[in-house]
Amino acid sequence: MDQYSKSNDDALRARAMRVIPGGMWGHQNAPRLPVGYPQYFSRAEGCHIWDADGRKYIDFICGWGPTILGYGDADVEAAAANQRALGDAMNGPSARLVELAELMVETVPHADWAMFSKNGTDATTACVTIARAGTGRRKVLVARGAYHGAIPWCSPSVVGVTEEDRAHLVYFDYNDVASLEAAAEHCKGDLAAILVSAFKHDLGKPHELPTREFAQRARALADAADAALIVDDVRAGFRLDLGGSWELVGVRPDLAAWSKAIANGHALASVTGNDRFREAATRIFTTGSFWTAAVSMAAAIATIEKLRAVDAVAHMRAMGQRFRDGLDAQARSHGVPLRQSGPVQMPVLLFENDLDRRLGDAFCLEALARGVYLHPSHTLFLSVAHRETDIDRALETTDEALAAVARL
Ligand code: PMP
Repeated sequence: MDQYSKSNDDALRARAMRVIPGGMWGHQNAPRLPVGYPQYFSRAEGCHIWDADGRKYIDFICGWGPTILGYGDADVEAAAANQRALGDAMNGPSARLVELAELMVETVPHADWAMFSKNGTDATTACVTIARAGTGRRKVLVARGAYHGAIPWCSPSVVGVTEEDRAHLVYFDYNDVASLEAAAEHCKGDLAAILVSAFKHDLGKPHELPTREFAQRARALADAADAALIVDDVRAGFRLDLGGSWELVGVRPDLAAWSKAIANGHALASVTGNDRFREAATRIFTTGSFWTAAVSMAAAIATIEKLRAVDAVAHMRAMGQRFRDGLDAQARSHGVPLRQSGPVQMPVLLFENDLDRRLGDAFCLEALARGVYLHPSHTLFLSVAHRETDIDRALETTDEALAAVARL
């Protein structure tokens, strides 16, 4: 509890209620989590976070994905600090822009070029706009339940959204080839793009990697229609494969959207694309006041270089596997129906037949009370800063949490 009073989080929530609609917006609104989760945080370092009341947690959310090397990574922060001393948001970009674009093109096999913005939504929206510009067509195929951002064309809420905002979206089911084919057929002559997440990571649902058959069919259908294949790698980018997540299934998109982890927590997003869509990318108008800011670009360069140097994907996979194996063994020994899915470095922890999330919420609260920050329905994230000792400490906690779930 160190320097904070017990009620710091409550006091901040009360003040927020007066000056922020509902106290907080979107998915970072703590009341969407079981009662007991903190809303406010005071500090983060490595794989640990401290809430506003000074409680320390081993963190498996990583700031919802951006923290891939660990909070406050020394090399990334040194690069950011050097750049900050020189200039950040100036009248135009610094040389970091060109260096970073070169690095993205060198790292990502499908990329002949790269552009930068701030949020994942900026990047997914730009991909769709470039695809429409490049094809002169309107329809975009999207998977039911997939998340691509928080503006009217893609927001999961329809509050304040008109039908016209989504008039040209046509839906299919992820990993279901027949439904993808039917959706493409429906759009015949007007298909601009097929937009897919890196893997199926819908909220509260078991996660699924793309099947090779599905990925290849998506590529073939896009080619047959001369449309763009877009991979939304905002959530998974650099955690599954530094070259882009669909390298795992041997399929290259025309366009990809990146954000979250590319600058280890600094605000940055990117669109990468191939030469087929280069000309279209020059014609769309896209910009933002902070999109050329140099600090996050310097951070991204340092992040990508370090991810390569430390074989980050292999490390996160090893730690994720250790966590998954440990949890599975614990769930078996306590006789609780925990079902893990998704890649081990980005798992989701769900319980069977737990539609009201009774078990999931109880498990996460028990873990939280013992200093491990999990989420009952969202993708979790491992980072390079998670070491074996952190995973083992977290597992000591989950063992007690699962024992408590077994007693329910
Ligand atoms: N696409 C995916 C797959 C995401 O997970 C997210 C963010 N959770 C977005 C797009 C939107 O990114 P942002 O919140 O940075 O706009």
